[in-house]
Order: sequence, then C-alpha cells, then structure tokens
Amino acid sequence: MISSSAKGDLIEGFDGIVCDLDGVIYRGHEAVPHAVESLLSVLSSGVIVVYATNNASRAPVEVAAHLEALGLPGPGSRVVTSAQAGARYVAQHCHPGSRVLAVGGVGVSLALQEEGLRPISAHEAVAQMSPSQEPVAAVLQGYGADVAWTDLAEAAYAVQAGALWVATNTDSTLPTERGKAPGNGTLVGAVRQAVEVDPVVVGKPHTPLYELSVSVLGTSIERTLAIGDRLDTDIKGANAAGLESLFVFGGVHGWSDAVRAEQNERPQYVATDMRSLQLAYTKPVQDTGDPYRWVCGEARAWVTAAGDLHVSQQGTLNERLRAALRALWHAGDVRGMPMDPGGGDGKALANELDLALATHR
Ligand SMILES: [Mg+2]
Repeated sequence: MISSSAKGDLIEGFDGIVCDLDGVIYRGHEAVPHAVESLLSVLSSGVIVVYATNNASRAPVEVAAHLEALGLPGPGSRVVTSAQAGARYVAQHCHPGSRVLAVGGVGVSLALQEEGLRPISAHEAVAQMSPSQEPVAAVLQGYGADVAWTDLAEAAYAVQAGALWVATNTDSTLPTERGKAPGNGTLVGAVRQAVEVDPVVVGKPHTPLYELSVSVLGTSIERTLAIGDRLDTDIKGANAAGLESLFVFGGVHGWSDAVRAEQNERPQYVATDMRSLQLAYTKPVQDTGDPYRWVCGEARAWVTAAGDLHVSQQGTLNERLRAALRALWHAGDVRGMPMDPGGGDGKALANELDLALATHR
C-alpha cells in the first residue's frame, strides 16, 4: 500500500474500504461530519474505496452524482448496490437473456440489464402471458416507492410457478425525513405470505453484496475494511464475509445498541467518526492484574459485581468508549451479567457521546 504516513494509523492495515453510505457518508442530502475529508485523505494515500448500499432504488450513477455533490470523486467512484449483487446472483443461476421479473426502482431493472438478463415489469408479465411464452426464470425484488400490489402478486405467481426468488435486502423499515416507513423486508414479507419458499437475500447482513464489493476492489479479504453504522447489517455482514469492520456512531445505531450487540454483530474497531481512520488505533486489552478491568490507552473501564459500569475520567472519548464496550461485552459473555447501557457511568458516557456527535453537526 502507498501511504504518506508511517504512524501505524488504523487505515495502514488496509488496501481497500467497503463503505456504507446512509448514516456513514450522508444523512438525507447532508454529509456526515468528517466523513468526506477523512475519505479524501484516505483516497489520496492510495487506499481504494467502494460504496456498498442495501438501498436498491437508485442507480449507481445517481448515487455517484450525490457523492460528487458532497465533494467526493463522483464519476470515478465505484458504487455497488444490492440490486447489482442480486442481478449477479440471478445471472449465475439462470441462462443469459432469461426473463426476470423486476420489482422495485429503476436500479433493479438496470442491474439486470447490465448482467445480460431481460427485465420485465409486472404489467409486461401480464401482457406477455401466453402458453408459448418462456416462463419468468427469476424475480428480483428490491425497494421502490412505486411498488404496487400488482408487482407483489406477479412476484408471488412467478415464485409459485418455480421462479428463483432473490431479494436485494430485507431491512424491515426505511428511514425517511417524515419518520420510519415500511422497508423492502416488509414487502418481501407480503410476498412470503403467499408462497412456500424463502427468498435468497443478497444485501447486508448476507454476504453476496460484500463479496461483490471486494471483487470490484480487487483487494484481499484480510486487507479490506468494512465501515458501517448498523450493527445488524453492516457489521454482522462484514463478520460473515470475513472482513474486519469499523463501526461509527452517529448513524442508525448508538451506544445502547453497541452494548447490546450480539457477538456476531460486534466490530473489531469502534469510533465516534471517520477521523479515526487516520489515527493510531488503541485496542482495549484486559488488565493483567484484574481480568474484569479493560484498558484502552489512558482509559480504564470495569463492571462491578452489581453490574454497574465504571469508566475512568482519563483517556479520549474513543478510548473510554472502547474500554467500556469491552468491559460490558466481557461481563455479559463471561460473567453472564445483564449488559445495561445506562448502569453506573454508562448514562454519562452516552450523554458525552451524544454531545460530541451533536457538536459535529
Ligand atoms: Mg447505513
């Protein structure tokens, strides 16, 4: 790897990054604080980046235009969507030129075309119905604001007739400016009510989207870092794909989610924001004199027999967060204690994190 620095920064362990978008690079139209500068700096040191999103509704070119508007290299940036991972999966399992029912936004049919498949809409499926017509080989189902009952019904008929069913992702909700809306998982669930099989899911936390991203990067698994703001998709998926991951606060998941994360949803690296990519990463270690005490740089954290978290005043916020998380995870895993994010110093730490993230904005 070409690197301008030799300080043992976190990013020096990696040649490539698979970066989530929503909650990591942008929230709605706004850039997430420090994300753009950090990525520009990382890119200039020779690390390559692909952006991997479960959101299948927008075409990669639209996402690239959004990135460019935020100040990131736009046209050259490689955006990998779950629609592309889904289309790739269909292409690997169906003949070239197969008719595939496309359910979702324009990103879904575009991805199918790029893989040499023949996307058809629900209306086309109905209009083209005839005994001589080749049956629909597969259904690729992703989110789209205009998905209607007709699309879901045609998907169900095709699956019942034996078509391969691939879902881009099964996120149950979709965060919007007006609140949570039903996500693709909810619409996939509606089709599932009518059929006897489960879909193949390619988006995070399943591995095909990460596998496609790594193959686009051309880096080795060991030297590729996944970055995400959701533990149950980004981080769980990275663990399943064998990638190390950085979890950043400030997106969908916060302190209490991190504390309660299942073992397969826990990242190797935790930071308040992306600036940590270019800092030396201090890993929390168990205190040699007290196995319940975790040390991260200047910070110390431990969980008392009553289950209360204690965190030293010393150390940076990131050091205290890392020590505290390890102490709580260890208390839960090894001592069987309930992991209370708000017990002892947990509440104050969470407030401090909120304040740090709020002052970023
Ligand atoms: Mg996200």
